[in-house]
Amino acid sequence: MTQLPKTQAIRIQTRQTNEKEHSTPLFLTSSFRFDNAEEMSQTFAGDLDNNIYSRFENPNAQEFIDKMCALEEVEAGFATASGMSSVFGCFMTFLNAGDHLLSCRSIFGSTHTVITKFFPRWNIEYSYADINDPESWESQVRPNTKMIFIETPTNPGLDIIDLEWIGNFAKKHNIILLVDNCFATPILQKPARYGADLILHSATKWIDGQGRVLGGVVVGKKELIDQIFVFCKNTGPSISPFNAWLLSKSLETLDVRLQRHCDNAEALVKALDGHPKLNNIRYPFHPSHPMYEVAKKQMARGGGLVTFDIKGGLESGKRFLNNLKMLTLTSNLGDTRSIASHPASTTHAKLTDEEKASVSITPGLIRISVGLEDIEDIKADILQALEKC
Ligand code: PLP
Repeated sequence: MTQLPKTQAIRIQTRQTNEKEHSTPLFLTSSFRFDNAEEMSQTFAGDLDNNIYSRFENPNAQEFIDKMCALEEVEAGFATASGMSSVFGCFMTFLNAGDHLLSCRSIFGSTHTVITKFFPRWNIEYSYADINDPESWESQVRPNTKMIFIETPTNPGLDIIDLEWIGNFAKKHNIILLVDNCFATPILQKPARYGADLILHSATKWIDGQGRVLGGVVVGKKELIDQIFVFCKNTGPSISPFNAWLLSKSLETLDVRLQRHCDNAEALVKALDGHPKLNNIRYPFHPSHPMYEVAKKQMARGGGLVTFDIKGGLESGKRFLNNLKMLTLTSNLGDTRSIASHPASTTHAKLTDEEKASVSITPGLIRISVGLEDIEDIKADILQALEKC
C-alpha cells in the first residue's frame, strides 16, 4: 500500500544497519568502500548503484531528498549546502552564454544579485516582467528564453503569482519553469501540480524550522535533476551529511509545525486588523490581499509570514523594532521563535524608493515570521511595541 506524502515524510528511511537502529544514523563519511576491484569499476561505470563519495551522494542526503520528493510529488532531487547553492546550481546547469532568463523583480535579494551582477559577466541575458501584469510576461519572452524563475509568496513583499497561469504560460512557450517554494513549503503548496519542472527550497527556513543549519534542495523531473546532479557533483555545493540528517528529521514535524505557525499567524492578523497605527496588513489569506482568490486556490493555508505597514514610515519602523521585548531581530525566518525585520532600513536599504515600491516594500513595512510561542505573548509584544510608535 502506498503511503500518503505526509506519512512518507516520516516513514521514508535509509536501509537499517545490523544494529537495528530506529532512527537513521549519521553517515559521517567522505567516501564509501568497495569489496573488490570489480565492484569498484562497475560502480564507477554506473552498472552498480553504490555510493562512491559524499560530494556525489550520501545516505543522509538521499533520505532527505526522498522525503522532499514525496512531499512535492516529484521524481528526483539533489540537496545542497544552502538555498542559494540550489538556485545557483539550477541556473548554471541550464543557462549557457546567449540564453535568456525571464523572472520578475520580486525575488529574494541574493537571487536578484546573482542575476543582475553575475549573469552579464557570463553573457546570460535576463529580463524582469511585472509580477502583477500577465501581459508583460508575454512581451518579454525571447527566442532564447530558456528558463522562468519565480517565487510565490515572495520575500519580503508576500506578492503572489498564479501558478496555474505561469505553468500554462511556460508550457506554451516550452520554457523550463523553476519555482522557489521556500515561503509556502510543500505542506501548503505543490507547484508541480501546476506544471513546475523544478522546485527549490532554502531548507534553512521552515524545513529546519529551528534556526540551526543552512541547507537547500531542488526537486523535480528526473531528466532535469540528472543534469543538475552532473553539474553539482563536479562543482561541489553538496549538503553535509549532518545537515541532511538534521533536515530529514525536521521533515517529520514539518506538517504539525506549519499548521501551528499558520494558526498563530491567523490569530495575529485578526488582532492587528484595523489597528490605528497601521496603514495596512498583508497576509495571503486576508481578503484585502490583491491576490486573495489565487492564494486560496493554490495554497492550503496562508503561511507563517505576516507583514504590515506602520504609519510614520522609516522612523516608526525602527522605533517598532527597538521597542520589541520578545521577538528577535535577526535576518532569518521560519523559526520556532518569532522574528521581526524592517526591510527598508536593512536588507533593502540600498534600493531607491521606486525600486522598493516595485517589490511591495514601503518605508514602514515590518515582516513578522510568526513563531510557535504562545500566541498571547506574540500579540502582546507586537501590540505594546506598536503603542510606542
Ligand atoms: N529563497 C528565498 C525565498 C529565501 O528567503 C532565501 C533566504 O532567505 C533563499 C532563497 C536563500 O537561502 P539560503 O539562505 O539558505 O542560502
